[in-house]
Amino acid sequence: MPETVTDPSALSSALETLAAAPRLLVALDFDGTLAPFADDPAQVGALPGSWAAVLTLQRARDTEVVLVSGRPLDGLARVTQAPDGMALVGSHGVEWRVDGHDEDALTDDESARVQRLGAALDEVVSRYPGVRIEHKPAGLGIHTRGVDAETAAAADAEASRVAHEVDDAVLERGGKDILEFAVRHVTKGDAIDRLRELRGADAVFFAGDDVTDEDGFRVLREGDVGVKVGQGDTLAGYRVTDPAALTEVLKQLARARATR
Ligand SMILES: [Mg+2]
Repeated sequence: MPETVTDPSALSSALETLAAAPRLLVALDFDGTLAPFADDPAQVGALPGSWAAVLTLQRARDTEVVLVSGRPLDGLARVTQAPDGMALVGSHGVEWRVDGHDEDALTDDESARVQRLGAALDEVVSRYPGVRIEHKPAGLGIHTRGVDAETAAAADAEASRVAHEVDDAVLERGGKDILEFAVRHVTKGDAIDRLRELRGADAVFFAGDDVTDEDGFRVLREGDVGVKVGQGDTLAGYRVTDPAALTEVLKQLARARATR
């Protein structure tokens, strides 16, 4: 794994260089990155300073912001109150809202697989107190926030076993207090690649906090800037401690981009 830089002055100078790119794509995870974690995911919001910087970036010339989240697209749009022109990618890359058009389009076969998995996992989750299941448009999430570690581990293990029994092509991904099952193998990295292409971006900024964001860091190239928020192994070039620290990073990038 390459060295991740925590020195703020190194990140600061990388941001100045990045801000000079002719066309810039700013891709951002939401939960744990723009927004701190909260017990009720419907109640969280982006930190005000971060969101102000995001809006400044969105208005800046030759600059595009995209929010790339594991949340379903609808929920992401609701919780962020993102302005109409802002690109949104939900369900880890399956659902898209770009240029005002929604795109999700699971095939009938994929939808049937989600249904089957959902029915089987409903049954598993019903036997573990406190564990919750989220039925997403493109898969399922098993939530164990606030559940004791032993119960969470047992529920995850059984959910995993059952999901693979029901669907041998299921994609499993672990995150913070969540285990997810999806039927389409796309990642945040695929979303970043596609948007880079679509927008003809010369450089990309990407920030994220969770394991699934590593797919995004993996597709970054020379001259891009990746920022991991918080602890954990990462492929990102830079690291900040928490969403509040990322606010300062976004402010600097927005200022540099808006005044170039
Ligand atoms: Mg996150």
